[in-house]
This record gives sequence, C-alpha cells and structure tokens, in this order.
Amino acid sequence: MLQNQYEEVQQRIEAACRRCGRDRSEVTLVAVSKTKPVEMLEEVYGLGERNFGENKVQELTGKYEAMPKDIHWHMIGHLQRNKVKYIVDKVELIHSVDSLRLARTISEEAGKHGCTAHILLEVNVAEEESKFGVTVEEAPKLAEEISLLPNIQIEGLMTIAPFVENPEENRPVFKKLKKLSVDIADKNINNVTMAVLSMGMTNDYEVAIEEGATMVRVGTAIFGARNYGITN
Ligand SMILES: *Cc1c(COP(=O)(O)O)cnc(C)c1O
Repeated sequence: MLQNQYEEVQQRIEAACRRCGRDRSEVTLVAVSKTKPVEMLEEVYGLGERNFGENKVQELTGKYEAMPKDIHWHMIGHLQRNKVKYIVDKVELIHSVDSLRLARTISEEAGKHGCTAHILLEVNVAEEESKFGVTVEEAPKLAEEISLLPNIQIEGLMTIAPFVENPEENRPVFKKLKKLSVDIADKNINNVTMAVLSMGMTNDYEVAIEEGATMVRVGTAIFGARNYGITN
C-alpha cells in the first residue's frame, strides 16, 4: 500500500538531483514515521528504507526495540535534557541541538555509554517564534562552544522551514542555511564538519535538494497524513 508513495518520493528525489547536476548518493532520505504504527515502518523497511526519523523519545525507543537492528534512527524533535540518556546510544544522528546546555548533557551521557554522539545544530533560519533553534547569527559561536566538549561531534545543520503554500517561498531559507554551513566550515573548527544539511520536508524537499540538502525528512508523502489526538 505504501509502495507507490515511497517510490514516488524516491523518483522525485532522483529527478531533483538530476535537475541540479547532483548525484543521487549525495542525498539521504529520512522516512519520518512519527505517530505511525510499527506495521507501516516494517512495510517501508521491506522496500529497502533504513533511515527513520522520530520526534518523541518514548516513541523512538519503542520502535527501536520492535524493529530490526540495522536501522539508522534520527531524532528530529525537540529533546529534553532528562531524556537524552534513553536515546544517546540508539540514534545515528540528533538533528535538533540548539543550546550548549543540551549539548553538555548529550556529551556527558555519550561518555557514560562509551559512544560519540553525532549531532546537527538546529537553526531557526526564518526566525519563527513558534520554532526551536538558534538564529543564524548565534550558530557559529554555539558550534565553537560545542566543539570543545568530548564525545560529541557536530556534523552539520538542520532547519525546519515555514509552512508555505508554494515551496518556492522557502528557497531563500534553504539558501541561507547552505551559506551558513559554508561560513562555519570556513572557520575550520576542530571536531566540526558541515557535511550534513538536513532540510526539506514533504512540501518542499525538492527545492531543498536543489539548494544543497544532503538529508530530507519526509513523512506525509510516504506514510500519509497524521492523525493527532482523536482518541485521547
Ligand atoms: C514531522 C516532521 C517532518 C516531516 O514532515 P512532513 O511534512 O510530514 O514530511 C520533518 N521534520 C521534522 C522536524 C518533523 O517534526
């Protein structure tokens, strides 16, 4: 049932890469499975998908236990410090780090688990009040501060673009995040790479790819619309 939707997303990613002369291997699709049952994840896993994104710690750990162990889990939602310990050794990448306090906790918990945490800085490029993330201006300083912590490695930047009717409206947002990543990379900070640009969702992932996204986080286009809070 999900096969057609999944394949259409794959084809659109390929087409977007072709349009801007990028190799398909430069872009990782993260299938955002929040609120969806394990059976649906299994179906998409069966189609070959290995990267899944969740935004709640409890849901992520539950699905982690239920699903095969070769999955790369992505924490894409706001993360409370007291919950870091439940996921730090289970996720491939935490996309949503926006404070030194949170980074310190991740660093400490990764140390306790004997692992290195790979993270992205979440940047609120459009400066929407409802969103988490640091501003473009704050990001370089935060990168330098986090770079001094042990057991934590910054791999790039993430943004959640505004909800817009026409995805073209978000092109400037994606351009800004790309430029910021180049500016931070130019600083050659120890322990900081800008290899990952996590940007683009169902409504705008093709534009994001044209502007340099290396990871797109797609939920609705694969799994269908989400139902929140109908039963409780
Ligand atoms: C839910 C979510 C997505 C996926 O959104 P869709 O519009 O369903 O593709 C991507 N990124 C984050 C951070 C999310 O919370």
